[in-house]
Amino acid sequence: MKQFQFDYHSITSLKRDLDKVHLWCKSKSCSNVVFQIYSDTLDRGQIELVSNVIARTIPNAICMGCSTNGNIVEGRLSNASISIVCSVFEKPTTKLKLLQYTLNAETALDVIEDIKRVVKETPWVKAMELQLTIRGMSLTPLCDALHDIDKSVAIFGGGAFNPDISRNDACVFSNVGGYSERGILVLLMGGKDFFIHTTHITGWKPLGREFLVTKADSALLFELDGRPAYDVYYRYLKILKDEHFFSNTLEFPFFYKHNGINILRAPIHCNEDGTLVMTSDIDENVKARLAYGDPWTILDAVRKEGKEIVEFKPDVVKVFSCAARRTFWGKEEISKETLPFQSIAPTSGFYTSGEFLRTDGFVNQHNVTLVIAAMREGEGDGYRRFDMAEDTFFSGQVSMVNRLATFIDAATQELAEANAKLSLMAISDSLSKLFNRGEMQRRINACISEGKPACLVMLDIDDFKNINDTCGHKEGDNVIVGLSGVLKKLVHEMGLLGLDSMSYETVNDDECPREEKEMILADVKAPVGRWGGEEFMVLLQEIPVEKALDFAERVRKEFNAIEFEKAGHQSVSIGVVEIGKGESADSAYIRVDKALYKAKESGRNQVFLA
Ligand code: GH3
Ligand code: MG
Ligand code: MG
Repeated sequence: MKQFQFDYHSITSLKRDLDKVHLWCKSKSCSNVVFQIYSDTLDRGQIELVSNVIARTIPNAICMGCSTNGNIVEGRLSNASISIVCSVFEKPTTKLKLLQYTLNAETALDVIEDIKRVVKETPWVKAMELQLTIRGMSLTPLCDALHDIDKSVAIFGGGAFNPDISRNDACVFSNVGGYSERGILVLLMGGKDFFIHTTHITGWKPLGREFLVTKADSALLFELDGRPAYDVYYRYLKILKDEHFFSNTLEFPFFYKHNGINILRAPIHCNEDGTLVMTSDIDENVKARLAYGDPWTILDAVRKEGKEIVEFKPDVVKVFSCAARRTFWGKEEISKETLPFQSIAPTSGFYTSGEFLRTDGFVNQHNVTLVIAAMREGEGDGYRRFDMAEDTFFSGQVSMVNRLATFIDAATQELAEANAKLSLMAISDSLSKLFNRGEMQRRINACISEGKPACLVMLDIDDFKNINDTCGHKEGDNVIVGLSGVLKKLVHEMGLLGLDSMSYETVNDDECPREEKEMILADVKAPVGRWGGEEFMVLLQEIPVEKALDFAERVRKEFNAIEFEKAGHQSVSIGVVEIGKGESADSAYIRVDKALYKAKESGRNQVFLA
């Protein structure tokens, strides 16, 4: 596979460059020729002029292209408006096919179906390169549907863009379907001697705390933590809702996990009510964080991917890089992240309005990302090297930003860990590891306000003062822990918790993350709490009173059967009530306390139902 890359300056220079290609093709055996035209202008006249000259000079070639936010030629951002990359495939077994469709909300489903049909009928396909206009359209259905395509097919590409980053008009064009302002090009590549390796780089690191996406629909991000999403940009970054909103937020996209990989989403616009219009769809109910571009992380990722790509021994490297990255690096440094690949093989591509890549079978639409596709024909003979300095020097300002961000990250992590401990502490009792009284009251109130039928079981260890007095406080504590253990064990064994066995194991696994535990605990149907010194309360939701009595009786017996080292056998008195319809929590507490008193009065070590 051979590649020619050149910028368009004039018809004369274009013809000269095309003659070189023509001569080379005549002297070698070549199976397919593809021209990719990257145009940093939407000037249809210019684009068609260039396309026509190519079609006349090399009539059998595939000619395709799109508008861009900058063209990448020989690993660098080109100064030219139109750049041309010509790939010549040499192996007779290599096959290519270009499809072009009109892409809008009405046609999207048919387009997807047709692409899937063609791929199915074309067994040689190994890779699909996409170039498409995006224009605020939701591409999630397209990405999701592409999932059905055979897992061995690599899928990658980029969204056509506009030279002006704040505009969204764009075009794709080819000698199959002509010039289109709403279209998709699908270049199918394959055959037994064609090989591809794809990957992506972000380098954007999460910054500060997590926000829960509480309301989102397609590309509209309404609320984070139940507040207008814009508030985050104002509160943490002092970004105003003005005409600079887009460029100010571009370098601080949101970061979250989707299909198991990290995804970035940047806002393009902020509505009056604080709703953010994002570059692509954002999921609801995910935890998102702000992210910032970190030059070291980016270049480390470039170094790591470069080392892998050089092993693959590609003939060419294609890059689809987000326009936001161009803004981030600035004119001086923009080529730092793409130029290293040029040392491996000719590297070309463009600055996009969205990057597409299939990872683990899923096709994801990325933002602020660099998607890379390395290709070769044959076994990859010949030596390839990868030139990239181990350390790259940055100006003092960047290094200061990086240090501050690292500081914020470390501080946020410490706070998150402290908060995690505090939030569990706030609802539990340290000696018994049961819920504390405040948490029990909160759950009982919630149960009553939801109108769920429930029973209360209140317990008080008998003659506890005596245990303390004769065996010591420590043994008193052991007895408290002993009863707690019986309560925890029986709510589980009697199936009162409402948890499946996996959730139960998770809650009892010390290694399990706190959030997961809290989520499971929040749904527990039978919370057990320490109400005071040697008093306990159990709320049994949606449990008939007979079963509550059965539970109480089993607790009484099992506790009585324990032999404590110093205190020997002990007993507990238990009151049980069914919470009445419309009854207040206070009234239920008084009744269950009375029932417990009755149990004590009748000689202790008893269960009394009121
Ligand atoms: P009754 O059978 O009537 O319930 O008698 P009792 O002795 O259990 O009743 P009382 O409520 O008078 O005594 C409770 C004692 O529990 C008083 C207090 O010193 C002790 N206590 C409270 N909290 C703890 C604790 O965390 N550990 C220990 N060891 N003792 C505690
Ligand atoms: Mg007591
Ligand atoms: Mg007592």
